[in-house]
Amino acid sequence: MANKVCVIGAGASGLLAAISAKNHGADVYILERNQKIGKKILATGNGRCNYTNVDATEYNYNHPRFVKNIFEQFGPDKTLQFFESLGIVPKIEEEGKTYPLSEQSSSIVDVLGFEIEKLSIKVLFEQLVNDIEKNKNGYIIRTQSQTFYADKVIIATGGMALPKSGSDGIGYKLAKRVGHKITNVFPALVKLELDYPYLKQMDGVKIKVQAELIYLDEVIHSEYGDVLFTKYGISGPTILQISRKANELLQNKQQAYIRVKLIEHLDYKDLLQRFKMLQDKSIEMALIGLIPKKLIHPILKESGMKYFNETVKNISGKQINIIINLLFDWRFLIIGSKGFDDAQVTAGGVDIEDIDSMTLESKISKGIYFTGEVLDIDALCGGYNLQWAWSSGYIAGKYAGN
Ligand SMILES: Cc1cc2nc3c(=O)[nH]c(=O)nc-3n(C[C@H](O)[C@H](O)[C@H](O)COP(=O)(O)OP(=O)(O)OC[C@H]3O[C@@H](n4cnc5c(N)ncnc54)[C@H](O)[C@@H]3O)c2cc1C
Repeated sequence: MANKVCVIGAGASGLLAAISAKNHGADVYILERNQKIGKKILATGNGRCNYTNVDATEYNYNHPRFVKNIFEQFGPDKTLQFFESLGIVPKIEEEGKTYPLSEQSSSIVDVLGFEIEKLSIKVLFEQLVNDIEKNKNGYIIRTQSQTFYADKVIIATGGMALPKSGSDGIGYKLAKRVGHKITNVFPALVKLELDYPYLKQMDGVKIKVQAELIYLDEVIHSEYGDVLFTKYGISGPTILQISRKANELLQNKQQAYIRVKLIEHLDYKDLLQRFKMLQDKSIEMALIGLIPKKLIHPILKESGMKYFNETVKNISGKQINIIINLLFDWRFLIIGSKGFDDAQVTAGGVDIEDIDSMTLESKISKGIYFTGEVLDIDALCGGYNLQWAWSSGYIAGKYAGN
């Protein structure tokens, strides 16, 4: 008789798990708390769904050895093929980021939905699973209104990022119920909060710069691209990438800074030359045309200047030196980040120590499998997190279904 497999969660990894389990011979059903499938997928890639990264390897993840075993069985290549077989034409952009040619996240949800229907996989909506219990025949799964049974259960409930999509961390409770430990969980790919007195003045300034994470005076992560100053701190694609390590340091009560390099293509000597040329202007005017206007007062205040109308030629060489150095090395103390409502991914989750890295089956509770973000696996922006969801979903479905 076919294995009866219950998949909890109709998100990215759950949908792949269900399709894979069915294709490997199981009798599959999905329990989903929402009224439709793939709610979070719709929000991905700014509505375009960066569904994979053709260059993704295990080294893009926090636990490469664990991911390697899964990618060797079902990696980005097989994912591309799988989605092409469903009708998705890949559009590969810079750094391997891959989108459907339609540039619509809904295309991914539509083709997965079609496949689920084609395979006659039952999806039961508005079923919030709140308990799992082992009995001698398999598992009892309880929702707020009903009780279900299965030989195998795939927990595909996601992490805590964007809780309004349905992934609010309840999966951790289910994991604990079947004996699993949860590592420290915190938001990643998220805006950072800074302690800086002039943020209000800088609010709304968007610049393309080199932004670096500084810890113990060393650069530990560097990104080039858009940075946006806000009332509370700093955001933009570069900052999201830096935020994973920044938040990890904060979790460990460490002090870290964001360093912004405002000036490109000019060096210290060029700037000295500029100030010499503009020596009859006020220092404020001498910075116009070099950096955004809203940043001029904060930079001058930070440098210790009191009077912004001071003529350049009357300013000491030491003071000019401080200003120039700040233009290349402006540091902001990181004091926190926005929460899970704003985060794109969850760092931490079900401890991988207790999971078989070939099959994604629990080592503690046989017949339970975990996929996607509920596990302690995450990566930067760029299609890697969805790639993990597809790969882990496919593999868990395969072994649960067999
Ligand atoms: C705004 C945003 C943009 C993103 N963009 C990208 C991108 O472009 N590329 C990329 O690679 N990654 C992106 N990500 C990350 C990516 O979406 C996730 O890593 C991925 O969706 C995780 O898949 P999952 O299956 O683990 O969980 P989810 O997709 O979160 O699915 C979990 C499902 O389980 C259901 N569920 C939860 N608990 C229960 C329960 N107790 N009972 C029943 N159902 C339950 C939820 O309702 C949900 O449907 C983005 C994330 C966000 C928030």
